[in-house]
Amino acid sequence: MAEYDYDVIFIGAGPGGYVGAIRAAQLGLKTACVESRETLGGTCLNVGCIPSKALLHGSEKFAEAAGGALARYGVKLGKVELDLAALQADKADAVKGLTGGIEFLFRKNKVDWLKGTGTFKDAHTITVAGKDYTAKEVVIATGSSVTPLPGVEVDNDKGIIVDSTGALALSRVPDHLVVIGGGVIGLEMGSVWRRLGAKVTVVEFLDALLPGMDGDVRKEAAKIFKKQGMELKLGTKVTGVTVKGKKATLTVEPAKGGAAETIEADCVLVAIGRRPNVAGLGLENIGLELNARGQIDTGHDFRTSVDGVRAIGDVIPGPMLAHKAEDEGIAVAEYIATGVGIVNHAVIPGVVYTNPEFAGVGLTEEQARELGEVKVGKFPMMANSRAKTNHEPDGFVKVIADAKTDKVLGVWAIASVAGTMIAQAAQAMEFGATSEDIAYTCHAHPTHSEAVKEAAMAVVGKPIHI
Ligand code: FAD
Ligand code: NAD
Repeated sequence: MAEYDYDVIFIGAGPGGYVGAIRAAQLGLKTACVESRETLGGTCLNVGCIPSKALLHGSEKFAEAAGGALARYGVKLGKVELDLAALQADKADAVKGLTGGIEFLFRKNKVDWLKGTGTFKDAHTITVAGKDYTAKEVVIATGSSVTPLPGVEVDNDKGIIVDSTGALALSRVPDHLVVIGGGVIGLEMGSVWRRLGAKVTVVEFLDALLPGMDGDVRKEAAKIFKKQGMELKLGTKVTGVTVKGKKATLTVEPAKGGAAETIEADCVLVAIGRRPNVAGLGLENIGLELNARGQIDTGHDFRTSVDGVRAIGDVIPGPMLAHKAEDEGIAVAEYIATGVGIVNHAVIPGVVYTNPEFAGVGLTEEQARELGEVKVGKFPMMANSRAKTNHEPDGFVKVIADAKTDKVLGVWAIASVAGTMIAQAAQAMEFGATSEDIAYTCHAHPTHSEAVKEAAMAVVGKPIHI
């Protein structure tokens, strides 16, 4: 009889756990994945990436039609009305299709789904729904949840103070949505409800939106979102929210101190970050300690300090992104099966899926300058023929290269399709490209991607179209 029930058990079926489980099974390991939700796919497929992108896409269509942007193309419309229930049904359909798809992939690859909450009994034994399962290796992929704001109580059912899950499920367009936190969630969800007709105010503690992104990108973001009608209160902190009936009153004051003011809203979105899911895992039963930020530290091969226990995805340090979790899932399975796995944490793109999209990979200009001398090339989307033709003037591409070696250190883009454009930059960086390599790569015309080539040409001061 085998020593263990499984070669590997993944706890959590988000992009980290489900991808890792499938790869482990493909590599011949007997694999199970524990998931307490009723559907697979984790935060990303159920209440994150996918439903938010469905609403972003749908709301963009509505805004195009309602805002008259289609008239110049000869598309004549009568009165445009919003059927929010239909939009929400389209979102639900996308989620259902994709989460069901993971269930199919589990069956196809013979991954056992252990339904319920997994708790460590010891390092090789996980209790799920009252039954013990053993494995040679256990991978923690339990993801993250919304960081609460002390004194501000989220109640998604009431729909007045909500987190991202509540903001994805509103059954009416708020009159005034106040977003606490000008990060990725705040701007994506703020964009959705702004396009559907809400007044949107973003209250951000720092002096700029989108922490972690390049300084130029952050400055431009503020201009673009203001132009789109969002009110931005930067350098401002929320000190309290009270709810009376269907109205919320927020008290805010300058982050650096000063006079307080109040803002009335009928919906408040708390989007101040996310924190690792570790409660209830029974980490105390295996002696696994967390770092100061409540995350699980691992080595390059995702081993934790406890033998036989590894961790990946949002629960470990690094950007909380689905593709980072997926790549770690593949790598951890490969480490377990073969002893070798690869994730290049220096080249993980990030994208904000607003319109335009904000994307970047590698170092910001500020980070690069701290490390040494750099050359920077910038090209405006206004001078890109395709963006200009499509009436998409906002944004730019910026290429940051090492001044001595010309090696590309970072690429940043604001453009309608920046999320797609950034893939070529990531690939170039993965291959150790110089800005000259990008500049001399033939790019199809007319495409938005030509702006990446032109920004690379601008590194040596020789773009063609500006
Ligand atoms: P998760 O996806 O969080 O999955 C963990 C799973 O583990 C969950 O299903 C949970 O139920 C389960 N679990 C937890 N504890 C236990 C337990 N003890 N037993 C059993 N099961 C357990 N990222 C992007 O890259 N692109 C985007 O566009 C994007 N959009 C987002 C939009 C929103 C609104 C949010 C909230 C997040 C978004 N993200 C996006 C982030 C992305 O969702 C996460 O980075 C990603 O889901 C992390 O994957 P994971 O596998 O580590 O964890
Ligand atoms: P975030 O870290 O992107 O932004 C949170 C913002 O809230 C920061 O700008 C921070 O300064 C601000 N903040 C913190 N406390 C505050 C306070 N008291 N008052 C006002 N502002 C305050 O976090 P998020 O937007 O909640 O997103 C969480 C995670 O989910 C992110 O790490 C992100 O990677 C991931 N995510 C990714 C995508 C995507 O890839 N498109 C989309 C959504 C979420």
